[in-house]
Amino acid sequence: MYKQKRLLTPGPLNTSQSVKNAMMIDLGTRDVEYQDLTEKVKEKLLMLANVSKDTFDVVFMQGSGTYGVESVISSAVAKQDKLLILSNGAYGKRMKEIADHAGINYDYEQSDAIKPLSLEEAETKIKASDATHVAFVHHETTAGVINDMEHICEIAHRYHKTVIVDAMSSFAGMPMQMEQVDFLITSSNKCVHGVPGLAIIFVRKDKMEHCKGNCPSLSLDLYEQYCAFADGKGFRFTSPTHVMLALDQAIQELVAQGGIKKRYAHYQALHDHLCAFMKQEGFEMLVDERDQSVMITTFVIPKDLDFQDFYEAMKFHGFLLYQGKLPGMEAFRIGNIGELDMDDMMRLCMLIHAYRKGDLIWK
Ligand SMILES: *Cc1c(COP(=O)(O)O)cnc(C)c1O
Repeated sequence: MYKQKRLLTPGPLNTSQSVKNAMMIDLGTRDVEYQDLTEKVKEKLLMLANVSKDTFDVVFMQGSGTYGVESVISSAVAKQDKLLILSNGAYGKRMKEIADHAGINYDYEQSDAIKPLSLEEAETKIKASDATHVAFVHHETTAGVINDMEHICEIAHRYHKTVIVDAMSSFAGMPMQMEQVDFLITSSNKCVHGVPGLAIIFVRKDKMEHCKGNCPSLSLDLYEQYCAFADGKGFRFTSPTHVMLALDQAIQELVAQGGIKKRYAHYQALHDHLCAFMKQEGFEMLVDERDQSVMITTFVIPKDLDFQDFYEAMKFHGFLLYQGKLPGMEAFRIGNIGELDMDDMMRLCMLIHAYRKGDLIWK
């Protein structure tokens, strides 16, 4: 059997026992009971997002978060349109790959991965661009940097662009204003604390008609999926019923625990504890503290640390770390998201301390 681990990664994440238990029922995908559940989860998500259901809707797409981003980009941007991608990390780069695959016209602007997108530069690029759509990542998980979503959206709208936001690892983990967004993508398994398998897409309803007939993929067609939900049919193809049950439970728990602000404060407490400890241990943070998110923290690998050995030692004691995705930078990441508490964080710190002193037994 596999041993339960604490996942300090950007996904998948640890889920509560009750979220796992919620999946112990088999539901029929075309049955009214399941369709009611799906509608109920949609409504709860719109309430969490604090947006009106007159203006916004939720479309579910089977698959991981990337399926949702690919669905939106390849459906929202028509042949005659153009997409401007403002990127500061691996997930911005993934949007470019999606645009390449879908054969979409685009401009790609790459900026520093350890800094938030500059608002002045964003404005200059948006203003000078003939693009119809602008896409960027809210929380760039690559280094754990928060981009100013609200202001970038506002700038994009001033220049009449449709805005696509990948908020995969920030939605439900920090308060945000979504009124200015046209499409926002998140996943069942990041800050919502459900299990992986569903992309959650918030769509502005009046932007949906433009999505008709654009998507080169059958299964990822956002417009067709939206219409199927609007017609009361729900998912066009077999739906991840267990994932939906787990998502419903995860949202219920989020609300019972005090909502998004409370979750953010919890991440912040874990993050603060970790950073204070790591500094004391002589680890250097890669990102300026003011720009570092509380969801994930990036540390420079010290010269005297064999990361693979360190990784194996932490794994032996039940913690999975995550090596950086930053080309040319020797770094690793520690995530705070998912079902983790202060005891987990304190235990991790004790293990790191013992490892650095050479006192940790693990092989
Ligand atoms: C996790 C993540 C994704 C999606 O990755 P999947 O592996 O497809 O779930 C996309 N964007 C960001 C910012 C992410 O953190």
